[in-house]
Amino acid sequence: MCRCGLCGGTLIVKSRGHGKQRAFSYACSSFELRGKVVCPNSLKMRLEVADDAILSALERELLDPEILQEAAARAARRVAAPARTKRCAATRSRPRSPTLRGLSRA
Ligand SMILES: [Zn+2]
Repeated sequence: MCRCGLCGGTLIVKSRGHGKQRAFSYACSSFELRGKVVCPNSLKMRLEVADDAILSALERELLDPEILQEAAARAARRVAAPARTKRCAATRSRPRSPTLRGLSRA
């Protein structure tokens, strides 16, 4: 879901000791694993700060009444649309194995 703003790489969780406790932060995986030549982004963000910001943004955006109304209208249109004629892979005809042929004769 979240990626580095400079290189687009995934984020990883890094931990660091703070006395008897450990602190966890998100960091760019390209910088951390492949070095600053690949990505110069050495910024880290504490896990709880980033998680709170993401959850707040999702809550604000996804629980917006206008967005919910539009999502409900789209879902209703999909339900009302005619069913697709795509066949499920499991129901496609395939050559039957000798074992299955033998079972069907029994
Ligand atoms: Zn990066």
